[in-house]
Amino acid sequence: MAVRIIPEKCKGCQKCVKECPFGAISMQEKLAAVGPSCTNCGVCIDICPFGAIEKLDEGARGVDTTLYHDVWVFAEQRDGALMSVSVELLGEGKKLADEIGCKLCAILCGDGAEGLIGELFEYGADKVYYADAPELKSYNTDAYTKVIYQAIVKYKPEIVLLGATHIGRDLGPCLAVHCGTGLTADCTKLDIDPEDKKLMQTRPAFGGNLMATILCPNHRPQMSTVRPGVMEKPERVIGRTGERIDIAAAFKDGDIRIRVLEVIKGLTEQVSLTDAKVIVSGGAGLGGPEGFELIGRLADRLGGVVGASRATVDSGWIDHSHQVGQTGTTVKPQVYFACGISGAIQHLAGMQNSGYIVAINKNENAPIFEVADYGIVGDLYKVIPAILDVLG
Ligand code: FAD
Ligand code: SF4
Ligand code: SF4
Repeated sequence: MAVRIIPEKCKGCQKCVKECPFGAISMQEKLAAVGPSCTNCGVCIDICPFGAIEKLDEGARGVDTTLYHDVWVFAEQRDGALMSVSVELLGEGKKLADEIGCKLCAILCGDGAEGLIGELFEYGADKVYYADAPELKSYNTDAYTKVIYQAIVKYKPEIVLLGATHIGRDLGPCLAVHCGTGLTADCTKLDIDPEDKKLMQTRPAFGGNLMATILCPNHRPQMSTVRPGVMEKPERVIGRTGERIDIAAAFKDGDIRIRVLEVIKGLTEQVSLTDAKVIVSGGAGLGGPEGFELIGRLADRLGGVVGASRATVDSGWIDHSHQVGQTGTTVKPQVYFACGISGAIQHLAGMQNSGYIVAINKNENAPIFEVADYGIVGDLYKVIPAILDVLG
């Protein structure tokens, strides 16, 4: 936005709200507030009878960053259970908050979800902002955006982190647009610049061929989504407590344009790659969908789950929920078997932090061997049955 309301001069007459041709001004706590749809037309400056609106020159665009404090984590709950990515973000958020010298906070929305507040304290939150309403029981874009946006305007967090889940990927951009700030999606690394304490958000760019570090220097909050499984979970400290702050959640007609009529769980087989201790993944080297039967036998024998490369998913051999990599799931099992997978950078991006990597490939020059702890050069149709024989 390119105009600014001068709070000391604004009398709350609402003239600018009615006259803005782009609907960019709303009232917040009796003062006018300019939103991101402002086109800088300048109409409101002349309209305000109290001289309370001024134009920002180019250099002054952005917000007064000194007003923003604390690191917030969106505590994503589904059916009253906290998503593990939110716990991971509390661990990462704590490190960032310590480096900045501020508090770690969680923002939780739900209907009777206060049972999770203690859990959030135990995973490191100093404060929990909690909104309770029937409309917030399950995720709803309009309802969650309204409540959290209002809380951001009121409490002014410096950083807001969300999981790069389907919900976080929907909510994050909506909030960023409302706040007129930026959002870096799918971050794999977050740091604080020791010089100016700004958030350095690193994510793969150009198909994963280089890592880009992105800053949000003039707008707040600094917002990132982070993929599940990338950050470490913090230790849970049973009995740790903090400050609970209840935030308003009132809706009027028209606020919520989306109605959830029914929730139908995916009919395809779903797999939980993020929590698995052992993953046995198959690639194009399987030669066809039937190869996953052998992969499944090894996974079952080791108490693990089946993963896949994108080549096999694109060929329709297995469901996308099994895909590991940049456009699939990021995983960190104790042991990862890559069977007939060449080791493209986009696949490595999703599994190279695994505890031990075992690669089976008939091409001794396959790039997967560069990240493997144990490499077996051979035909997977001979090697895997031999392993199963040894395991008995
Ligand atoms: P291939 O590269 O074809 O490798 C097959 C391997 O099997 C070869 O190394 C071969 O030597 C070996 N082999 C063949 N037969 C046998 C046998 N009998 N026994 C043992 N070894 C055998 N890929 C992902 O996996 N995940 C992603 O999330 C992902 N995201 C992407 C995002 C973008 C933007 C792009 C551009 C690409 C992405 N890809 C992703 C695709 C990636 O670049 C590769 O094309 C893909 O990973 C290759 O899959 P693969 O290793 O199974 O197949
Ligand atoms: Fe405030 Fe001026 Fe807008 Fe009236 S017209 S609400 S005084 S900014
Ligand atoms: Fe609306 Fe134009 Fe004022 Fe922006 S400058 S708030 S678009 S009237």
